[in-house]
Amino acid sequence: MSFDQPSVNAINKEYKRERKLSLMERIYLPEIFKGLWFSFKQMFAPAVTMSYPEERWDPPSIFRGRPVLVEDNGQERCVACGLCARACPPLAISMQANEKSDDPKERYPDFFEINMLRCIYCGFCEEVCPEEAIVMSKDYDIVFESREDAIYDKERLLVPKEDLKERLDYLKEYRNGQFGSFWDFQEENNIHSVRDRDREWNTGLSLVDMLEQQKRNDQTKASSRWSA
Ligand code: SF4
Ligand code: SF4
Repeated sequence: MSFDQPSVNAINKEYKRERKLSLMERIYLPEIFKGLWFSFKQMFAPAVTMSYPEERWDPPSIFRGRPVLVEDNGQERCVACGLCARACPPLAISMQANEKSDDPKERYPDFFEINMLRCIYCGFCEEVCPEEAIVMSKDYDIVFESREDAIYDKERLLVPKEDLKERLDYLKEYRNGQFGSFWDFQEENNIHSVRDRDREWNTGLSLVDMLEQQKRNDQTKASSRWSA
Protein backbone atom coordinates (compact mmCIF):
# COMPACT_ATOMS: atom_id res chain seq x y z
CA MET A 1 0.00 0.00 0.00
CA SER A 2 1.33 3.38 -0.97
CA PHE A 3 1.00 6.08 1.62
CA ASP A 4 1.71 8.73 -1.04
CA GLN A 5 -1.66 8.19 -2.66
CA PRO A 6 -4.86 9.31 -0.92
CA SER A 7 -7.31 6.51 -0.22
CA VAL A 8 -10.47 6.55 -2.35
CA ASN A 9 -12.41 3.93 -0.46
CA ALA A 10 -14.92 6.44 0.83
CA ILE A 11 -16.55 6.72 -2.60
CA ASN A 12 -18.33 3.72 -4.00
CA LYS A 13 -17.22 3.27 -7.58
CA GLU A 14 -20.57 1.64 -8.34
CA TYR A 15 -22.58 4.70 -7.29
CA LYS A 16 -24.11 5.04 -10.74
CA ARG A 17 -25.90 1.73 -10.25
CA GLU A 18 -27.47 2.79 -6.94
CA ARG A 19 -31.25 3.04 -6.83
CA LYS A 20 -32.59 6.55 -7.33
CA LEU A 21 -34.77 7.87 -4.48
CA SER A 22 -38.29 8.87 -5.46
CA LEU A 23 -39.62 12.34 -4.71
CA MET A 24 -41.58 11.09 -1.69
CA GLU A 25 -38.49 9.40 -0.34
CA ARG A 26 -36.42 12.51 -0.82
CA ILE A 27 -38.79 14.78 1.13
CA TYR A 28 -38.79 12.31 4.13
CA LEU A 29 -42.22 13.41 5.35
CA PRO A 30 -44.07 10.12 4.71
CA GLU A 31 -41.40 8.26 6.67
CA ILE A 32 -41.67 10.73 9.55
CA PHE A 33 -45.45 10.29 9.67
CA LYS A 34 -45.04 6.51 9.55
CA GLY A 35 -42.79 6.74 12.62
CA LEU A 36 -45.24 9.01 14.43
CA TRP A 37 -48.12 6.65 13.62
CA PHE A 38 -46.15 3.72 15.02
CA SER A 39 -45.44 5.63 18.26
CA PHE A 40 -49.12 6.67 18.51
CA LYS A 41 -50.27 3.05 18.19
CA GLN A 42 -47.97 2.02 21.07
CA MET A 43 -49.93 4.31 23.42
CA PHE A 44 -52.81 1.82 23.23
CA ALA A 45 -50.75 -1.35 23.32
CA PRO A 46 -50.57 -3.26 26.63
CA ALA A 47 -47.65 -2.01 28.76
CA VAL A 48 -44.68 -4.37 29.08
CA THR A 49 -42.73 -2.05 31.36
CA MET A 50 -43.06 -1.52 35.11
CA SER A 51 -43.13 1.64 37.20
CA TYR A 52 -40.16 0.69 39.32
CA PRO A 53 -39.76 1.01 42.31
CA GLU A 54 -43.52 1.29 42.99
CA GLU A 55 -44.04 -1.89 40.97
CA ARG A 56 -41.48 -4.57 41.59
CA TRP A 57 -40.55 -7.57 39.49
CA ASP A 58 -40.59 -10.91 41.22
CA PRO A 59 -37.87 -12.91 39.45
CA PRO A 60 -38.22 -16.67 38.86
CA SER A 61 -36.25 -19.02 41.10
CA ILE A 62 -33.59 -19.55 38.39
CA PHE A 63 -32.63 -15.85 38.76
CA ARG A 64 -29.21 -15.12 40.25
CA GLY A 65 -29.45 -12.04 42.43
CA ARG A 66 -27.29 -11.01 45.37
CA PRO A 67 -25.58 -13.99 47.09
CA VAL A 68 -26.75 -14.48 50.68
CA LEU A 69 -25.92 -16.76 53.58
CA VAL A 70 -28.61 -19.21 54.68
CA GLU A 71 -29.71 -18.93 58.28
CA ASP A 72 -30.97 -22.24 59.61
CA ASN A 73 -32.59 -22.40 63.04
CA GLY A 74 -31.12 -19.06 63.99
CA GLN A 75 -27.54 -19.81 63.00
CA GLU A 76 -25.58 -19.82 59.80
CA ARG A 77 -25.17 -23.07 57.91
CA CYS A 78 -21.72 -21.96 56.80
CA VAL A 79 -18.85 -23.95 58.30
CA ALA A 80 -16.21 -21.57 56.96
CA CYS A 81 -14.58 -24.15 54.73
CA GLY A 82 -13.43 -21.43 52.35
CA LEU A 83 -14.45 -23.18 49.14
CA CYS A 84 -16.65 -20.31 47.99
CA ALA A 85 -13.84 -17.81 48.52
CA ARG A 86 -11.55 -20.08 46.56
CA ALA A 87 -14.01 -20.43 43.67
CA CYS A 88 -14.99 -16.78 43.50
CA PRO A 89 -13.42 -15.40 40.29
CA PRO A 90 -13.12 -11.72 41.38
CA LEU A 91 -12.05 -12.64 44.95
CA ALA A 92 -15.11 -10.96 46.43
CA ILE A 93 -15.46 -13.23 49.47
CA SER A 94 -13.37 -13.16 52.61
CA MET A 95 -13.86 -14.93 55.89
CA GLN A 96 -12.19 -16.14 59.04
CA ALA A 97 -13.05 -19.53 60.51
CA ASN A 98 -13.55 -20.13 64.22
CA GLU A 99 -14.57 -23.11 66.32
CA LYS A 100 -17.34 -23.31 68.85
CA SER A 101 -15.94 -23.52 72.35
CA ASP A 102 -18.50 -26.14 73.44
CA ASP A 103 -18.14 -28.26 70.28
CA PRO A 104 -14.78 -28.00 68.53
CA LYS A 105 -16.09 -30.12 65.65
CA GLU A 106 -18.34 -27.28 64.66
CA ARG A 107 -16.77 -24.43 62.74
CA TYR A 108 -18.38 -21.17 61.87
CA PRO A 109 -17.23 -17.97 60.17
CA ASP A 110 -16.03 -15.42 62.69
CA PHE A 111 -16.58 -12.87 59.98
CA PHE A 112 -17.83 -13.37 56.46
CA GLU A 113 -17.82 -10.57 53.92
CA ILE A 114 -18.76 -10.18 50.29
CA ASN A 115 -17.58 -7.13 48.43
CA MET A 116 -20.58 -6.40 46.23
CA LEU A 117 -18.54 -4.05 44.06
CA ARG A 118 -16.58 -7.09 42.95
CA CYS A 119 -19.33 -9.70 42.80
CA ILE A 120 -20.27 -10.62 39.24
CA TYR A 121 -23.26 -12.79 40.23
CA CYS A 122 -21.73 -15.85 38.63
CA GLY A 123 -23.14 -18.23 41.25
CA PHE A 124 -19.90 -20.24 41.58
CA CYS A 125 -20.00 -19.81 45.37
CA GLU A 126 -23.43 -21.41 45.47
CA GLU A 127 -22.28 -24.16 43.14
CA VAL A 128 -19.31 -25.25 45.24
CA CYS A 129 -20.75 -24.85 48.73
CA PRO A 130 -21.01 -28.31 50.33
CA GLU A 131 -23.49 -27.07 52.96
CA GLU A 132 -25.93 -25.19 50.74
CA ALA A 133 -25.00 -22.29 52.97
CA ILE A 134 -24.64 -19.61 50.33
CA VAL A 135 -27.28 -19.19 47.65
CA MET A 136 -28.23 -16.65 45.03
CA SER A 137 -31.26 -14.68 46.20
CA LYS A 138 -33.84 -12.70 44.25
CA ASP A 139 -32.48 -9.41 45.52
CA TYR A 140 -31.47 -7.25 42.56
CA ASP A 141 -31.79 -3.64 43.68
CA ILE A 142 -28.54 -3.09 45.51
CA VAL A 143 -27.51 0.45 46.32
CA PHE A 144 -24.42 1.74 48.11
CA GLU A 145 -23.49 5.19 49.29
CA SER A 146 -19.80 4.45 49.67
CA ARG A 147 -17.25 1.76 48.94
CA GLU A 148 -17.36 0.62 52.57
CA ASP A 149 -21.13 0.31 52.30
CA ALA A 150 -20.69 -2.18 49.46
CA ILE A 151 -18.96 -4.68 51.74
CA TYR A 152 -21.73 -6.86 53.12
CA ASP A 153 -20.93 -8.44 56.46
CA LYS A 154 -22.46 -11.54 58.01
CA GLU A 155 -25.37 -9.65 59.57
CA ARG A 156 -26.40 -8.22 56.20
CA LEU A 157 -25.81 -11.49 54.38
CA LEU A 158 -27.80 -13.81 56.62
CA VAL A 159 -31.33 -14.57 55.40
CA PRO A 160 -33.64 -17.15 57.04
CA LYS A 161 -34.00 -20.31 54.98
CA GLU A 162 -37.79 -19.88 54.92
CA ASP A 163 -37.34 -16.72 52.82
CA LEU A 164 -35.11 -18.60 50.38
CA LYS A 165 -37.41 -21.57 49.97
CA GLU A 166 -37.96 -21.09 46.23
CA ARG A 167 -34.25 -21.02 45.45
CA LEU A 168 -33.50 -23.94 47.77
CA ASP A 169 -36.25 -25.97 46.10
CA TYR A 170 -34.85 -25.02 42.72
CA LEU A 171 -31.37 -26.17 43.77
CA LYS A 172 -32.79 -29.38 45.15
CA GLU A 173 -34.28 -30.17 41.77
CA TYR A 174 -31.54 -29.02 39.43
CA ARG A 175 -28.24 -28.69 41.25
CA ASN A 176 -25.59 -31.24 40.29
CA GLY A 177 -28.04 -33.04 38.05
CA GLN A 178 -26.08 -35.21 35.67
CA PHE A 179 -27.29 -34.89 32.12
CA GLY A 180 -28.86 -38.01 30.77
CA SER A 181 -28.17 -40.08 33.84
CA PHE A 182 -30.11 -41.01 36.91
CA TRP A 183 -29.35 -39.06 40.02
CA ASP A 184 -31.65 -39.69 42.91
CA PHE A 185 -31.38 -36.84 45.37
CA GLN A 186 -31.61 -38.18 48.89
CA GLU A 187 -32.79 -35.37 51.07
CA GLU A 188 -31.41 -36.82 54.26
CA ASN A 189 -27.92 -36.64 52.77
CA ASN A 190 -28.17 -32.91 52.61
CA ILE A 191 -27.82 -32.43 56.33
CA HIS A 192 -26.11 -29.29 57.32
CA SER A 193 -23.38 -30.17 59.75
CA VAL A 194 -23.35 -32.79 62.46
CA ARG A 195 -25.29 -30.60 64.88
CA ASP A 196 -28.44 -30.74 62.75
CA ARG A 197 -28.35 -34.39 61.84
CA ASP A 198 -30.48 -35.85 64.56
CA ARG A 199 -32.39 -32.73 65.50
CA GLU A 200 -33.63 -32.04 61.99
CA TRP A 201 -33.98 -35.46 60.52
CA ASN A 202 -34.03 -37.83 63.42
CA THR A 203 -32.66 -40.47 61.09
CA GLY A 204 -31.17 -42.47 63.93
CA LEU A 205 -28.53 -43.56 61.42
CA SER A 206 -24.83 -43.42 62.09
CA LEU A 207 -22.63 -42.01 59.37
CA VAL A 208 -21.71 -45.58 58.37
CA ASP A 209 -25.40 -46.53 58.17
CA MET A 210 -26.06 -43.48 56.04
CA LEU A 211 -23.30 -44.43 53.62
CA GLU A 212 -24.70 -47.95 53.42
CA GLN A 213 -28.13 -46.49 52.76
CA GLN A 214 -26.68 -44.31 50.02
CA LYS A 215 -25.01 -47.32 48.44
CA ARG A 216 -28.37 -49.08 48.35
CA ASN A 217 -29.98 -45.98 46.85
CA ASP A 218 -27.31 -45.85 44.17
CA GLN A 219 -28.09 -49.42 43.21
CA THR A 220 -31.78 -48.72 42.62
CA LYS A 221 -32.92 -48.93 39.06
CA ALA A 222 -32.80 -45.76 36.98
CA SER A 223 -35.99 -43.77 36.81
CA SER A 224 -37.91 -44.11 33.54
CA ARG A 225 -37.70 -40.32 33.32
CA TRP A 226 -34.02 -40.64 32.41
CA SER A 227 -33.95 -43.92 30.59
CA ALA A 228 -34.68 -42.53 27.09
S1 SF4 B 1 -21.64 -14.87 42.81
FE1 SF4 B 1 -19.59 -15.25 41.91
S2 SF4 B 1 -18.56 -13.30 42.11
FE2 SF4 B 1 -20.31 -13.19 43.50
S3 SF4 B 1 -19.52 -13.86 45.47
FE3 SF4 B 1 -20.32 -15.68 44.44
S4 SF4 B 1 -18.55 -16.59 43.37
FE4 SF4 B 1 -18.01 -14.48 43.92
S1 SF4 C 1 -20.55 -20.56 52.38
FE1 SF4 C 1 -20.29 -22.74 51.95
S2 SF4 C 1 -18.44 -22.86 50.69
FE2 SF4 C 1 -18.44 -20.84 51.66
S3 SF4 C 1 -17.23 -21.12 53.50
FE3 SF4 C 1 -19.37 -21.41 54.07
S4 SF4 C 1 -19.69 -23.63 53.92
FE4 SF4 C 1 -17.79 -23.18 52.80
